[in-house]
Amino acid sequence: MTKWVYGFGDGNAEGRADMKNLLGGKGANLAEMASLGIPVPAGFTITTELCTYFYENDQTYPADLKEQGAKALSDVEKIMGAKFGDSDNPLLVSVRSGARASMPGMMDTVLNLGLNDDTVKGLIAQSGDERFAYDSYRRFVQMYSDVVLGVEHHHFEEILQDHKDSKGYVLDTDMTADDWKLIVASFRTKVEQQLGRPFPMDPQEQLWGAIGAVFGSWMNQRAITYRKLNDIPAEWGTAVNVQAMVYGNMGEDSATGVCFSRDPSTGMNRFYGEFLINAQGEDVVAGIRTPQPLNLVEKETSHSELPSMEEEMPALYKELNGYRDRLEQHYRDMQDMEFTVQRGKLWMLQTRNGKRTAQAALTIAVEMCEDGLIDKEEAIRRMDPAMLDSLLHPMLDPSADRTVLAKGLPASPGAASGQVVFSADEAEKWAGAGKKVMLVRIETSPEDIGGMHVAQGILTTRGGMTSHAAVVARGMGTPCVSGTGEIKVDYASKSFSVGGTTVNEGDVITIDGASGEVMLGEVPTMQPELTGDFAKLMAWVDKIRTLTVRTNAETPTDAQTARKFGAEGIGLCRTEHMFFDPARIIHMREMIVAEDEETRRAALAKLLPYQRQDFSELFEIMAGLPVTIRLLDPPLHEFLPHSEADMADVASAAGTTVDKIKAASAQLQESNPMLGHRGCRLAITYPEICEMQARAIFEAACEVTKKGGAPVVPEVMVPLVGLFNEFDTLKKVIEGVAKTVMAEQGIELEYLIGTMIELPRAALRAGHIAEQAEFFSFGTNDLTQTAFGLSRDDAGNFLKIYIDKGIIEVDPFVSIDQDGVGELIKLAAERGKATRPDIKLGICGEHGGDPASVVFCHHAGLNYVSCSPYRVPIARLAAAQAVLGAGSYSTK
Ligand code: ADP
Ligand code: MG
Ligand code: MG
Repeated sequence: MTKWVYGFGDGNAEGRADMKNLLGGKGANLAEMASLGIPVPAGFTITTELCTYFYENDQTYPADLKEQGAKALSDVEKIMGAKFGDSDNPLLVSVRSGARASMPGMMDTVLNLGLNDDTVKGLIAQSGDERFAYDSYRRFVQMYSDVVLGVEHHHFEEILQDHKDSKGYVLDTDMTADDWKLIVASFRTKVEQQLGRPFPMDPQEQLWGAIGAVFGSWMNQRAITYRKLNDIPAEWGTAVNVQAMVYGNMGEDSATGVCFSRDPSTGMNRFYGEFLINAQGEDVVAGIRTPQPLNLVEKETSHSELPSMEEEMPALYKELNGYRDRLEQHYRDMQDMEFTVQRGKLWMLQTRNGKRTAQAALTIAVEMCEDGLIDKEEAIRRMDPAMLDSLLHPMLDPSADRTVLAKGLPASPGAASGQVVFSADEAEKWAGAGKKVMLVRIETSPEDIGGMHVAQGILTTRGGMTSHAAVVARGMGTPCVSGTGEIKVDYASKSFSVGGTTVNEGDVITIDGASGEVMLGEVPTMQPELTGDFAKLMAWVDKIRTLTVRTNAETPTDAQTARKFGAEGIGLCRTEHMFFDPARIIHMREMIVAEDEETRRAALAKLLPYQRQDFSELFEIMAGLPVTIRLLDPPLHEFLPHSEADMADVASAAGTTVDKIKAASAQLQESNPMLGHRGCRLAITYPEICEMQARAIFEAACEVTKKGGAPVVPEVMVPLVGLFNEFDTLKKVIEGVAKTVMAEQGIELEYLIGTMIELPRAALRAGHIAEQAEFFSFGTNDLTQTAFGLSRDDAGNFLKIYIDKGIIEVDPFVSIDQDGVGELIKLAAERGKATRPDIKLGICGEHGGDPASVVFCHHAGLNYVSCSPYRVPIARLAAAQAVLGAGSYSTK
């Protein structure tokens, strides 16, 4: 017999925290808290296996489920001393979804389930408060109708508003018990009108209806989208939790709240949270009332006027603080908890490892390690490399002028600017057109996920630090300012106003998620300091990893940034980027349109000093670290002039006519430039280009060496080799230049000559090529293009469809296709090593900064990865995690 149902309550539980796969995160942790003796309302969890069964069997249940459910429910009744459906002493329950990982797309919780015209009488008797009972009843009808029956909530809001208007009421608190009673009746009539059948009065029907709706919601569009964005497989399924209700809305000695064992925004070790007196469930996160601070520290830092829990309920606050310590010690991680106080008794309703900003993740991991709660390996494992990105993100330049429009809550740090849009759909549209958008909403909900994902930042006018917008933004590492009440959003006119200013759709604003400031226009930003906890963690990382991390850089600025981020050399210096400067491109163009070798050499001679200068600077910055320089790679037509004016300039510089330039351009047009006359093919045709570049490299190396710095070891890299003879021919040219220059300069230099492996043929023939090549650098961008026979520039349109249809899992240009392209890399590495055991192996190209690809490179036995400067810390961390046995990461 399969066990589908696991009970918990009264100090006992059938489940445990490590049963998340079966019980979902919420269920497993409720069970764990119950076992720890922490007060949790009794309940039971229906397993994720049941969800799988449900979808494999035409959305039906196994025969023994109802019986197991009935038994579990009667256990809850015994513990809570009340009976489900009883008109004297009714047990009410909540029905809560709970997947393995917390998942916004899932069905919302239904509270107060079990109420009907009979049981409400019992609730009145229990509470002695008729108004409370009918308020609970109407909440239930509305929630259940919305969430389970699909009757949109605006219907209910309209009924309520009409009633209040007719009575001249302003607030919900003006409503009396009789008012709520009338509202319940009107709600039920509305439901019947909408659905053609009455609202279910039978508590069993209500219960199973809600359970079915949870399982049904696993396949709704919101959940599917969220799973796709977060790489959660559909097979996981969700669990359902049915739990006895406790009431935070039973008067002034009742309350409900949300808290974190440490500050989820900064990571500071202080108890942090929000609560509301006389409120139920979602009231805190819904942002309907402004939440109160949990304690005095929080009250002070948030400049709140409202009394804190520490002041209003000191004994309960102390008890809660005790659970905070216990749960954090127990789980050895920062906890995100929910609680309710019913008439002076504290109940814990949820705990989980809290979502946090990258900054908080770092601070918490380092502090917990220093406090001995976790070890260094664990601290490293806990950091998501992709998240580091946001730590390296810009902050506002403190000296920049700014016009502050308003101040909200600092919900998710980082500064960002963008054009204002007022809906998630618009955000996606604008972002799709290449615009940077700032999503401005009164509040956000799970339907907005797509738009939140593409926005530079998120600004809301309602809701606290634990509102949907805040939690989701922190998870995404997107800057967010929430609860900016001064701002009045008008969706109809697509504008917002604050003070005397109106901001329209398309206007640029800047937000600072660290201070909560909202500013007009774009405010300049600057880079963060990489000291403190970051430096500590990186030092631990560097002790563990075996893979070297280099950078792709051709400008001094990039090279310096990369050094600051810990780069251990340059893995790819693309020389063509050095020719696009206006002063230089003219000579490049002269070179390209030259009709004979002599003219070409004359033009190249003018380029030589520029190249030499660039290389000298790079060598100096890298101070003895290896620098790999790639010879000219792209097809020549990329450098040609387009405008008449440019053509005229080149014509006069080259002493020729515009017509001749046009003719030369036409001559160079190719139908498939990616596979055309480029890479080493250029240098085979025009060896003088290779000679000039080699001369610039060796002269620069001599110059820097003569200055007495660390000896420079240039690595000259030949691109797009497919044939042994291509490489062999050019190696001879380069060696010839090296000898000449060293003789001229009277210096002996060490240097390496190697090749990129970016064509399948080169990978296959690696054993032969290694006879001459001293290093391989896998150019995985082109290797992916050529292995797939896929042009990256043209793939954008259909790759997305491939991913949507599940034909491929991730974009192979983002994360290495380990099975195909990866196989070519492993094979080339093996064959290269067989010929030349000490051959140096590395990868350059975007993949060098993708955590999953870095882990792959570690296992493929490469010596180094090379990536853009900002990804260097990410690659360092991923390389350490590879040593610690990490698999692959999500590649969003
Ligand atoms: P979510 O996953 O969105 O946090 P929850 O299931 O935790 O959803 O519930 C939403 C709200 O309802 C929370 O504030 C929670 O504390 C409250 N809640 C859930 N179950 C109960 C219950 N049995 N008694 C009182 N409040 C509850
Ligand atoms: Mg919750
Ligand atoms: Mg290439």
